[in-house]
Amino acid sequence: MARRIGVCRALHAYHHYAFWRTFFLELGWETVLSPTTNREAIEHGVRLSPSELCLPAKAFLGHVAILKDKVDAILLPRIVCSVLRKDYFFGCPKALALPDLTRAVFDSLPMVVEPVLDQRIQTDEQAWCAAVSGAVPQTDARRAFRCASAAAQATTQKTRQQGSPLHMFGRDANGRAAPESAVRVGVVGHSYLLYDSGLSLDILDKVRDAGGQPVVIFPSDAEVTRETQEDDALNWYYEIELLAAARRLLEHEAVDGMLLVASFACGTGAVTNEIIHRAAVHKHRVPTILLLLDEHTGEAGLVTRIESFVDVLRMRKK
Ligand code: SF4
Repeated sequence: MARRIGVCRALHAYHHYAFWRTFFLELGWETVLSPTTNREAIEHGVRLSPSELCLPAKAFLGHVAILKDKVDAILLPRIVCSVLRKDYFFGCPKALALPDLTRAVFDSLPMVVEPVLDQRIQTDEQAWCAAVSGAVPQTDARRAFRCASAAAQATTQKTRQQGSPLHMFGRDANGRAAPESAVRVGVVGHSYLLYDSGLSLDILDKVRDAGGQPVVIFPSDAEVTRETQEDDALNWYYEIELLAAARRLLEHEAVDGMLLVASFACGTGAVTNEIIHRAAVHKHRVPTILLLLDEHTGEAGLVTRIESFVDVLRMRKK
């Protein structure tokens, strides 16, 4: 009988779900994906979490709670370090500690599959093979890894073309098109915030409703590499992606303003957004607004701030 493995539709699933699904499919396992984040998942996660945790990590725990009794195993990836051109780039500390936190807050869990992705000590292939070593032959795991890597590459291309990762979950890529006259609003934030409607309250649609055209960039490998080569490059991998996206928005996309979206209590985001803000305002004369999301964020307040920002951008254009 196929093993059922639970995958949380949260955090890095918005980057890596295609890889994960293919890997387990090739092993003959069935992937059970948790539903889109809802109020119940958030409230459950908030009850379980230390208060200083960010909203996506709290929601992740809510997804674990939804899945854990319905599956034979659960995926808790630990994304530690990627080596790019001999330099080290790390995952964010809070996401990195999530497997430990998950074990600490739940009395019982199904079997945990925890690939430790740390290229300082092993290749990703070795990490994935080790994570399932007790359950499947290594030759099968290596073949599954190769298939999953190919699927991930194709998926990344599609995400860049469509400007959205939602196709991974079988959902429509983009919302309706904005009129030609709409102001162009560059939006920078992690996919697991922007595209999780339960967390972001459909922030991209709110920009459209306010009369703006949201522009979200998924940078190419070359753009990410360029960012890593800056003298003062950050060493957080997923923040580098945001900086590369912001650079393209400011230098090539003729945006009228920048909407920076982050989670309250996100340490890495505080640094990244300050860098983007300085480049936008001081170098490119592009206004920015920072929206911090948490479990108390209300629809009305969010709409008011976005409408005000879009109004300001519209007036500046006249
Ligand atoms: S980068 Fe920020 S929002 Fe994302 S998991 Fe880390 S602390 Fe949370």
